[in-house]
Amino acid sequence: MEFPLAFIHRMREQLGEGYTDFSNSLQSPPSISIRLNPQKFNKSITTLQKVSWEPNGFYLQKRPVFTLDPLFHAGSYYVQEASSMFTGYLFKQLFNEATPLKILDLCAAPGGKTTHVASLMNQKSILVANEVIKSRAHILAENVIKWGNPNVVVTQNDPKEFKSLEGFFDVIVVDAPCSGEGLFRRDESAIGEWSVENTQLCALRQQRITADIWGSLAPGGFLIYSTCTYNPNENEKNLVWMSEQLNAKSIKVPVPVEWGIHQIEWHGMVGYQFLPHKIKGEGFFAGIVQKESEDKPFYFKVKTQPNQLSRESQVTLKEWVKEPDNVQFQIKEETIIAYPAETESLTLYLQQKLRVLKSGVIVAEQKGKKFIPHPDFALSNMLQQLSFPKIELSHYEALQYLKKENIHTTQAVKGYHLVTYQDVPLGWTNHLGNRSNNLFPVGWRIRMALPKKEGLKPPFL
Ligand code: SAM
Repeated sequence: MEFPLAFIHRMREQLGEGYTDFSNSLQSPPSISIRLNPQKFNKSITTLQKVSWEPNGFYLQKRPVFTLDPLFHAGSYYVQEASSMFTGYLFKQLFNEATPLKILDLCAAPGGKTTHVASLMNQKSILVANEVIKSRAHILAENVIKWGNPNVVVTQNDPKEFKSLEGFFDVIVVDAPCSGEGLFRRDESAIGEWSVENTQLCALRQQRITADIWGSLAPGGFLIYSTCTYNPNENEKNLVWMSEQLNAKSIKVPVPVEWGIHQIEWHGMVGYQFLPHKIKGEGFFAGIVQKESEDKPFYFKVKTQPNQLSRESQVTLKEWVKEPDNVQFQIKEETIIAYPAETESLTLYLQQKLRVLKSGVIVAEQKGKKFIPHPDFALSNMLQQLSFPKIELSHYEALQYLKKENIHTTQAVKGYHLVTYQDVPLGWTNHLGNRSNNLFPVGWRIRMALPKKEGLKPPFL
């Protein structure tokens, strides 16, 4: 692997004696890691090495074909680079689990930090996962649906379009688009796109993004800033820029020395740098700043009233969800959406202000008096599994189901069945007697050819 000379020179200067180890580490293969979804995976893992800063993070010895693992499709884990799991650690240093929060993940696709923060917040909190690029925003929405938290709203807005939400968010995560130096060993195309000019443009873009979003941070609120680069202009110097231009205050957190994370202090601002020769992971940088300004309480008003479901329909659907008293159903044309009651009005308010791609959970389509359960609902943590007849599939059958093939079963009962693998829901089938309809979404289906049943490797978890 060859690197641009200007990059080598700068890194030599930055790292001094450490440069040789750094450079050698870039010639070795990157580690592979996953973060478990505590809502969908509760077996204890003893055979895999843990990520020091994330209790649900584990390194894999080699890269499996994730597509051939049904638990991957079910949202039981997220394939996430280990260093970037540090955002979750920072989040936990700021808040305890009981605090209700309004959170924004501004540059969220494909959803690593979003799914992480979603697992750390409580039911009274709401997370807006935003991605400006449309195609990436749809991938983000898919990953959020599979992760299963109902109180994540997916939006597709430019950072400057958040200006109307002044003082709204208690926390904003800005995982900024960057020059990607930390990804060189994982993604060679990042090397080709690198230039000094490009890193300068990145630093200016990061400043623009932060300035655009700063107004929507509540007084006293926190902004977790991160990049996957080693470039000081995009990292610590941008934190200094935030202090000078936005009056941001740096927040330092305790980080055990044995983790190998390098703490950078620059003009009073603190950041945490991950270097691949010091930690098991890729290059990453993160820092927290706080907005210092007078406390102004935030008020909001919802203009539109949602269409409530008929009492009769509510009686049926309340049996479908886990905590019926905490759920509000709405109907839009024939689509029934469930919202966590505690964040419903906030969600409606956000719908007035932003381009919302997903909010709440689509539970069903209503056809006359019948409800057809929706694929999103099967994957949601709101689902009351006990209310549905279940079909538990083997590894191979689950892959056939995910490929949208019809599965053969001896089930006698007609109607909708929840399809599970290792007890984790994958989707629905409709039994019609002598045949069944596979209701897995076409857009999510496995496209690769399945190996022969005998050749299928056992699941790695
Ligand atoms: N946070 C994500 C995760 O953990 O999976 C990774 C985010 S990636 C580092 C940066 C994201 O910023 C990309 O999805 C990119 O499309 C988005 N982006 C690009 N230009 C942007 C801009 N001008 N404003 C906001 N976001 C932008």
